[in-house]
Amino acid sequence: MTGQPPVGIDTSRPHPARMYDWYLGGKDNYPVDEAMGRQMLALDPRVPVMARVNRAFMHRATRWLAGQGVRQFLDIGTGIPTEPNLHQVAQQTAPDARVVYCDNDPIVLAHAAALLRGTDEGVTEYLQADVREPDAIVEGAKKVLDFTRPVALSLIALLHFVPDEDGAHDLVRRLLAEVPSGSYLVMTHATADFTPEESAAATEKLKAAGVTLALRSREEFTRFFDGLDLVEPGVEVPHRWHPELGEPVPGQDDGVIPGYGAVGRKP
Ligand code: SAH
Repeated sequence: MTGQPPVGIDTSRPHPARMYDWYLGGKDNYPVDEAMGRQMLALDPRVPVMARVNRAFMHRATRWLAGQGVRQFLDIGTGIPTEPNLHQVAQQTAPDARVVYCDNDPIVLAHAAALLRGTDEGVTEYLQADVREPDAIVEGAKKVLDFTRPVALSLIALLHFVPDEDGAHDLVRRLLAEVPSGSYLVMTHATADFTPEESAAATEKLKAAGVTLALRSREEFTRFFDGLDLVEPGVEVPHRWHPELGEPVPGQDDGVIPGYGAVGRKP
């Protein structure tokens, strides 16, 4: 990105939202993000494909949920707007879909206007908040969403930035407690299960730059869905979750991407 960064943007260290934007080929990142992104690429050249595969999971899961009749979405850890955004996917199937976005990075707030251009029938809103403050998120979301009706909670590629010390599993439980039966939890999460050495090296490099990465095993990921009914095919590597609902990502093969994705329904 050229010119002065918006107020409050810290360009002295890399930020996950901006690194992810760089992987996706976006323009809302800074040299410090690109430099760390390149270090990640040196460890695993598939990182940009992984980012696109993750994004494509979001598209398919959102399409699936809208097809099930879900009309309310609370997306936490939204990231820098990248078309199509979640509300565009949801509103394509359901023009009346209501979407609340939430992120804690000021760069997302700076670009949030792009998240607020939806259909006339639907609604989109943006909250600047941290997933570690679930009460504030729910309070803000209630201004737009009806919590007596099903809500899809989407936490996509978010919780690997929230360590156990911050109570990641408990945060998800608290959010799920606020939504009624028929609501859904949608998640992807990075893991060290498939590439332990590269993952350990990536975690170290990010830590040195001030970014916490909390990779989780399949078992730890699955535990986020305790008490929910997992939607078929259950916990999968993201590109194998309902591939028929989208196009394959360029550069993607069936090689394992070191992450998990799943959708669960609150009974
Ligand atoms: N969900 C999007 C973006 C994933 S990148 C997608 O999958 O395409 C991860 C996002 O989580 C970044 O935008 C980052 O700013 C945000 N994030 C990280 N920690 C967070 C926290 N504690 N609270 C809210 N958002 C957070």
